[in-house]
Amino acid sequence: MSTALFDLSGRTALITGSARGIGYALAEGLAAAGAQVIINGRSQAGVDKAVAALKAKGLPVLGAAFDVADTDAVLAAFRGFDSQNLAIDILVNNAGIQHRQPMLELDVKDWQRVLDTNLTAAFLVGREAARRMIARGRGGKIINIGSLTSEAARATVAPYTVAKGGIKLLSRAMAAEWAKHDIQANTIGPGYILTEMNEALVKDPKFDAWVRASNPAQRWGTPQELVGAAIFLASAASNYVNGQIIYVDGGWLSVL
Ligand code: NDP
Repeated sequence: MSTALFDLSGRTALITGSARGIGYALAEGLAAAGAQVIINGRSQAGVDKAVAALKAKGLPVLGAAFDVADTDAVLAAFRGFDSQNLAIDILVNNAGIQHRQPMLELDVKDWQRVLDTNLTAAFLVGREAARRMIARGRGGKIINIGSLTSEAARATVAPYTVAKGGIKLLSRAMAAEWAKHDIQANTIGPGYILTEMNEALVKDPKFDAWVRASNPAQRWGTPQELVGAAIFLASAASNYVNGQIIYVDGGWLSVL
């Protein structure tokens, strides 16, 4: 089989929240597969550092620091891409935050903040990217990053669970409306992955032991282990795959 199916040469990918963690690994992976990658995060310093590290590896990356939960900032960022003739062929809606608190104590502001960042931003950035993909007439790929909580609830993470459940259906809504424009929108649902977001959980011996015991793979996943699914969903290999979710979880959901 030819690897040309998975070749991303000539494509430009925007990966939100790619200054570190899963987004950074996906940026490195898609760039290594041939794409020009735009690195994003709120912190300019964080974006600059990631861009410098990937450029040092000879990868074609550039940076765009903006807050995906700020509508004006998103619209300004896309105007900036337009003025630089940067046409986004691949969008990965990856930026996300966590807030752990029992629902009975949860303030509506924290509920809203998580929904804004983890769900509404994916609609907003997705809409801006899709408008341009449709106008160009070359189709496109949208990958929304879900979670195990796209499928199953866990205590103390209600807004995150609701947002990630919404992400799974947002991909389907995008597929329903945009498939006729040759846009494929799918979700990747990562299992427990070793990133800064989970630092406190990894250091908690009880939680760490639970992750290992509840997962058939008996270990955490690495950000790099999400790259294969992302290249598949970003490439011609998935041109008739739409509205789906691929869990990359070591088998966790299989034994739930
Ligand atoms: P990290 O906390 O390690 O990284 C998050 C990234 O997103 C950072 O680059 C951060 O940069 C950026 N970010 C956060 N908020 C915004 C915002 N409003 N606008 C732009 N960028 C933002 O997270 P992970 O890599 O662990 O998670 C990435 C995605 O994967 C998230 O959607 C998460 O929910 C999902 N996921 C993670 C799992 C895991 O086990 N780690 C499991 C399942 C899903 P900055 O702070 O500078 O803005």
